[in-house]
This record gives sequence, structure tokens and C-alpha cells, in this order.
Amino acid sequence: MDRKPLTGIVFHIQRFTVHDGPGIRTEVFLKGCPLHCKWCSNPESQSFLREPGVYINKCIGLEHCGACTQACPTGSILRDENGLTRAIQRESCIHCLRCAEACPSNALKSWGVEMTADEVMEEILADRFLIERSGGGVTFSGGEALAQAEFLLELLRRCRAKQLHTCVETALCVPLEHLAQTVPYTDLYLFDLKDCDPIRHRAHTGADNALIFQNAAFLSRTGRPTVLRIPIIPGHNDTEENIAGIRDFILREMDQKPVQIQFLRFRKLGEEKYASLGRPYPMTGEVDRAEFERHILSLVRIMTDAGLPAVAGTTKKIPGFS
Ligand code: SF4
Ligand code: SF4
Repeated sequence: MDRKPLTGIVFHIQRFTVHDGPGIRTEVFLKGCPLHCKWCSNPESQSFLREPGVYINKCIGLEHCGACTQACPTGSILRDENGLTRAIQRESCIHCLRCAEACPSNALKSWGVEMTADEVMEEILADRFLIERSGGGVTFSGGEALAQAEFLLELLRRCRAKQLHTCVETALCVPLEHLAQTVPYTDLYLFDLKDCDPIRHRAHTGADNALIFQNAAFLSRTGRPTVLRIPIIPGHNDTEENIAGIRDFILREMDQKPVQIQFLRFRKLGEEKYASLGRPYPMTGEVDRAEFERHILSLVRIMTDAGLPAVAGTTKKIPGFS
């Protein structure tokens, strides 16, 4: 009997990226994440299921169309007083995506697509020549790339067989064994540490931070190069005390230090994607951009004063990689 091919849920494949690892890369975003960070700019990445997104301004209405209502087996399409599709009743939706397939105007879109490893590799290999000439490769991101552990491992193995440079971008809130099995096939890890304080971490991301810090220490022991990313979120984790705590953890627990520590400035992104999912945008308030950037530079100095290779942003060359 033929075995069903291994599949994963992918929410995006981006070609020619330059910020998530060295050189020019193809980036594969796997859907689903154990964290639900308040500042997440990709809310469509969080659920492990494919799900419909609604763009009401593209709907041509019940009078002219109505294809989604006809296609939906659960009566989950909700309309406004003008007959435009305005939302999905999420409680009754069974994620079949027939509505999105039927929609002629892209008012309904499928967040996430099921793909086989063969299909993902075909996309990756399409740009192989350019990727390799630039010193680039493939980055697996998410969501949480390591949350689809078996599928990710299969893709990493196939990339290794093709001698492609591989990065895994991870928030490390995953079982240690899932992380450990990727080590032989991963050339560089991009990992996040957000907050040393467990109570604040849980409040802002929905999960405890103990496993994350344990996994970071494990990564250091493997000898694999790592880049640490710290998203700086105003009013959440942007205190000197928090950054000093992360610094002390690195000095104490990571014998092999990250080759670079990138401070990422919070950007208000993804509001329309929250709306498409019928979810409120969780980040409120404005920040003075110039002042915030000065503040980030002062946080960077907390690391550099301790001899750690910290930079603001993702555009600086990663040491050790061309
Ligand atoms: S995904 Fe399926 S169940 Fe959900 S709204 Fe669309 S057609 Fe209906
Ligand atoms: S199928 Fe698309 S365009 Fe037609 S009514 Fe539904 S959402 Fe609107």
C-alpha cells in the first residue's frame, strides 16, 4: 500500500529575502505557534489550522455572487446589511476553505495551504542558482518552525542532501527533542529571547519562559552558530533591567555566545490581517519613533559594554558568514 506523503501547513513562501540569515534566501513560513505574543504582526501564523480571512472591501455582494454562502457546508458566512461578506462565524467553521476556493474576487483568502515536502522543495530549488551565488540558502520560520517537527526535519534533511545552507528561526518554546533532532541539519539558528521575567513573559506571550531559556542554553552547548533576536516592545520588555537579565543569562549559561545579538524595533504591522480574522488589534498607543530608537541604542550598549556582539536591526553582516 502506498504511504500518504508527509505534508505540512505552510502560510507563506517568500523568495529573495535578505534579513533572515546570510545572503539571498528562500524563506518558508510554517503555520502554527505555541506562543501568542501580543505584538505579533502575523496573526495568521498562530493557528495550526488553515483558516479563512475576510477582506470585506473586495466582496461584490450577495446580489452579484453569493458563491461562498453556497459553498459553505456549515452556514458560517456572515453578511452585512448590504449583502457583503463581513465575517466568518469562527465557532461553527470547520476550516474546509471551500468558501475561499469559490470566491471570485479574493474577498476570502485561505491563510495557510497544505503542502508536501516535494512541493516545498520544488519552490526552494527554483532559485537555487541565485541563492548559492549570494552565499544564501533557505530559512525555515513561522509561526514556530519547530512546532511542525516532523515536516521541518524532513525539509531540513532534503536541503542538506542538496547541500543548501539552512537557517531555522525559532522562539524555542518547543520540546527539547524536537530542537535536538534538527541540529545535524541546521547551519545557523535565529532564536528569540523576549523577557527574563516569567510572569511578564506569560502575560505577554501566553507561555512560561523556562523551557525557552533551557533550550537556548542547550543550543549553545551544541556548538552551532546562533543569532539572538530580542524584539523590543514599548511598555512590555524594553526595560534596562530586562536586557541586563538576558545579558547575564548569556554570560552565565551560554558558553558559546551568539555570533550576533539583534535588537528588533517593534513596528505596528498586521492590523488588516487581524481584521481579516475578526480579531481586535492588540497593541494600542503610539511611540515617538526617534526617542524609541535612541532608547534601543542605549539597550544595545548594555550588551556591547559586556563584550557581546549586539546591533540594532537585522541589516548588519552576520560575523562568520559571507
Ligand atoms: S472554511 Fe468552510 S466551514 Fe469555514 S466558512 Fe469557509 S466554507 Fe464555511
Ligand atoms: S464569494 Fe467572495 S465575492 Fe462572492 S459573496 Fe462571497 S466573499 Fe463576496
